[in-house]
Order: sequence, then structure tokens, then C-alpha cells
Amino acid sequence: MADARRAARDRVRAGDRGHVFHSWSAQALIDPLPIEGAQGSYLWDFDGNRYLDFTSALVYTNLGYQHPKVVAAIQEQAGKLCTLAPGFAVESRSEAARLIAERTPGELDKIFFTNGGAEAIENAVRMARLHTGRPKVLSTYRSYHGATSGAINITGDPRRWGSDTGTAGTVHFWGPFLYRSPFHATTEAEECQRALQHLEDTIVFEGSSSIAAIVLETVPGSSGVLVPPAGYLAGVRALCDRYGIVFVLDEVMVGFGRTGRWFAAEHWDVTPDLLTFAKGVNSGYVPLGGVAISPEIADTFATRPYPGGLTYSGHPLACAAAVATITTMAEEDVIGHSARIGERVLGPGLRELAGRHPSVGEVRGLGTFWALELVRNRETREPLVPYGAAGAAMAPVNAFAAACRERGLWPLTTMNRTHIAPPCTLSEAEAKEGLAVLDEALSVTDALMD
Ligand code: PLP
Repeated sequence: MADARRAARDRVRAGDRGHVFHSWSAQALIDPLPIEGAQGSYLWDFDGNRYLDFTSALVYTNLGYQHPKVVAAIQEQAGKLCTLAPGFAVESRSEAARLIAERTPGELDKIFFTNGGAEAIENAVRMARLHTGRPKVLSTYRSYHGATSGAINITGDPRRWGSDTGTAGTVHFWGPFLYRSPFHATTEAEECQRALQHLEDTIVFEGSSSIAAIVLETVPGSSGVLVPPAGYLAGVRALCDRYGIVFVLDEVMVGFGRTGRWFAAEHWDVTPDLLTFAKGVNSGYVPLGGVAISPEIADTFATRPYPGGLTYSGHPLACAAAVATITTMAEEDVIGHSARIGERVLGPGLRELAGRHPSVGEVRGLGTFWALELVRNRETREPLVPYGAAGAAMAPVNAFAAACRERGLWPLTTMNRTHIAPPCTLSEAEAKEGLAVLDEALSVTDALMD
């Protein structure tokens, strides 16, 4: 390796270890890999190792890294006008809002911009509370909605535990998940019906007049790509209508092509009252998120000021990146490509792996969004590592991840699962390359079975 490259690597590592405080980590126990660059579906380090990225960063580089049209749009906007206060009207923001509103389901035609997903959730909940005059929020176990104080309390996964304030007005309930059914169901239809009954019971016993919102990920993502059964989201919509509750769909992870649709809600033809987005809206090139708002909720704030705002709301650079991302997705049929690569290559390929690898308990997914549920025992479905496992208990999954990395694949692993979330632009050859690595790495988890 050239001396300059080695020196650059060491400088990056020293700065990081000396001064960067990382998310979700015990600071002394981590050693982040210095990355030299990334392009399309790949990233590489300073030592010449190249990795096919099956994580899309944190599930957001839906167009892959360094898409030239998005890079050019950011450069052009930077040359024209880097920033402007949110109170003015500015071209890139107006255009991003129009393009997003055009694609959201139903009449969610007004867009409140934030810097990311958690702020979108915070503002959606604030809008719902002010609109209904009610305090409580219902959300599911097995969900993630962000790490600010409101969003983390709404979250239903172990990331909440370290910051939990008890309730913060949140009540958790069980969503549908047939493979580990909380309702002892044996079919999707049974799971759907029982999950809806459980939700209605929760509403009644909590007191419907105290519930402002039900917040759901359309497809719970980081909790395991839990594709809901047919009829579930429509059933939740009906319950919200019956009890005057605001229905919030969190599409932060699944929006903008991830499931092979602009928004995952389209798969089930459901329209929420508020829809949160971030990540894929501009492929994550500049931080951006937001809330798409129904006419009824927008009307609540027609003559009464909305008591919320952000310095960088609708930042011109982030919005220019959104305009370029959405336009490129439309021009290059990225949404259709994501659906097709899922139907024709990733889905069949992953099911074929499950057929040969006993440590795969279930395959779930849509588009470029999949999960393999790793188990110790297919009969009992005992997870490869226990729920909430951390540290040394994660050794089996870490061994699988290391086997992937040694073979040039950067995997997304979380608890007893590996998620497959490559860019929506992934080519067929890249998909097959990734599947071949997973095939080899799964022999590591097969060897750990009871
Ligand atoms: N909602 C969902 C469904 C997410 O997956 C995430 C992040 O992964 C968030 C909200 C929080 O987004 P952010 O990290 O941009 O605050």
C-alpha cells in the first residue's frame, strides 16, 4: 500500500478514536473501519478491501453512493444558494414538497420538513395531539421510530430500554408477526384477525378518548422486515376512523422505493392521516426528513399557528438532493427495478438458501428489503441469539457477519437476523454476488445449530 494511503488511513482512525463519540456504542470497545470511498453498491477501505453494501448505509442510499445526478444537483444548488431561513419560499423546497406530495398516498398534500426520521415522528405526534386534544400514543412492540426522547419512548425494541422514561404517554401493543405469533395463530388470516382484536381491546381498555395516534411502521424494518398480513393495515385504518384516532404510518425506512413502491402503504392501498419519511427521500446525501399531512390536520393549523419548527427545516441543499433523487428514481424506473429484483432474484435466491441452510428459519421481504431469521432449531424456532442480545451473546451473529466481510460483503445484522437492504439500483449480477456470499457465510450459522 502506498505510504500516503496508509498515512491517510491512520489519520482518519486516530481522529475518530481520539474525538468522535459514536452512536449506540461503548466507546472503548469499538474500532470503526476507516473508509476511503464508495460508489454505486460498493464501499472500500484504505487497505484495498472492497465491500458490496447490503446495508445501504443505514438503509438509506436507495440510489447507491455518489449517484452523478444527485451529486450534480447538490453542487448546482451550492453554487446558487446554499441555505436560506425556513420562513422564505425557495425553489428547491417548493419543488421537493410538490414531488413528495404528488407521490404520497391519498391527499397528503402538505409537507413539513425535518432533518431526519426521529424529528418527523416527534412532529407527527405533536400534530396528532394538538389535532385531537388527546395525550396518548399507541405503537407496537418490535418497532423503531428514532432516538429523540419522544421517538425512543414510542419505539418498541431494546434500543428504548436505555432511555426509557416509563411511558411518556406511550402504550405498546403487539402487531402481527406470524412466525413468532403473540396470538398463537397458525395462518396469516388468523394472525391478522387476532392482532386487530388485540388492538381494539387495547384501545377500549386504554380509553379511546385519551388516544391521539396509532403510530406504525408500514413494514416494521429494523425489527425484522415484518411484512403485515393482507387486511391488517386496512383494519387499523378502520379502527382509527371508528375511534377518532390519527393514523400515523412511519415510512422513514420503507419510503422511496425500498419495497418496490414509492411508499409501502401502496401495497395495501392504505392512506394514513400523517406519513413520516426521511432516509431514501434524497438517498441520505444531505440530512432530510418530514411529515406528509392530511387536509384535515393541515386545517387545524390554518389559522392557529403550529407550535413547532426547526432551523434547517427544508434546507435548500437537502431539498435539491430530494428533487434530484425523486426525478432520477422516476426517470430510471428505480421503483420498478427494486420490485423486479426482489421478485426475480433476491426473493427466489433467499428462499433457495433457506432450503439448503437449516439455520434459516424464515425468509421475509419485498423489493430490496428482506430478512433471514436465523435460528438454533427450526422446530422450536429458538432464535440464534436471545431477544435483546448484546456483547458476547452476539458471538454467533458476529461470526456470520465476519464471514460475510471476509468474502467482500458488508452485511446488516441485528439480533438473530441478517437483513438484506442493498441500494434499490442493485444489478442482477451484484444481487447474485451477494447471495453467493450469504450462501457461504450461512455454513457458519448452520454449524451452531442444536
Ligand atoms: N423511523 C424508522 C422506521 C426508522 O427506521 C428510523 C431510523 O432507522 C427512524 C424512524 C429514525 O430516523 P433518524 O435516525 O433519521 O432519526
